[in-house]
Amino acid sequence: MELRYISRDTEVNNTVSVKNVTFGDGSFVIIAGPCSVENPEMLKETACHVKAHGAVMLRGGAYKPRTSPYSFQGLKEEGLLYLKQVSDETDLPVVSEVIDPRDVEMVARCVDMFQIGSRNMQNFSLLREVGKTDIPVLLKRGMAATIEDFLMAAEYIAAEGNDRIVLCERGIRTFENYTRNTLDITAVPILKSLCRLPVIVDPSHGTGMRDLILPMSLASMAAGADGVMIEVHPCPENALSDAEQSLSLQAFERIAIRLQQTQECFKDMRKR
Ligand code: PEP
Ligand code: MN
Repeated sequence: MELRYISRDTEVNNTVSVKNVTFGDGSFVIIAGPCSVENPEMLKETACHVKAHGAVMLRGGAYKPRTSPYSFQGLKEEGLLYLKQVSDETDLPVVSEVIDPRDVEMVARCVDMFQIGSRNMQNFSLLREVGKTDIPVLLKRGMAATIEDFLMAAEYIAAEGNDRIVLCERGIRTFENYTRNTLDITAVPILKSLCRLPVIVDPSHGTGMRDLILPMSLASMAAGADGVMIEVHPCPENALSDAEQSLSLQAFERIAIRLQQTQECFKDMRKR
């Protein structure tokens, strides 16, 4: 596997900073927020609550790449404006998905970090386009991507000049269909041994089941991940997308407390 820009041998900084948040410095970053931005009120309520309980970054989809074209596709530009507004009000940097190379410039005006979703991990024109910017990128693993495919996708971005990339393991498709995806925790130490980029885990999409989010977040921490990204909704049963995996504000709070209590034990795992 030829890694030119992201290999462990490159003598460059292994951390990625997004405003006041740093990935890869030994801290455990919690990104939280709704699957989709639904309205400004739910976004603000979620942001304030997760911030009060340990999240340092806000997530929220404005462009939703849904399996069915008839499902809610997101508020698009309007959603981006709500994200920007709530991010300014709460002082939380925001990450949101861009799904089309033509939208990169516009999305860049409202977010602090681009998200490239699983379905677009090998959308090479999109990878190249975000690679031409200097905005950090959260690159999610394709649902059928090997470790090599994943790293090569990161190389596409880095080769354009932008190496501010954080990798996100979010589960892969296997024969197992009890969970939404099979969360590949082994990817964390493997990716960290092969490349210099920070690695986080998304246990929400990785499992699709809210009861598995705490154990898988703890497992991610134990495996050496630099953080997690978790879906939270003020009223999960009414969420317009991913209701089954969204945590209530109270459930998020319990998980954040457990993660904080456990952080010291696994600090060594995140050292390089
Ligand atoms: C998301 O995080 O909003 C998302 C759609 O996840 P994934 O691309 O991993 O399915
Ligand atoms: Mn989701």
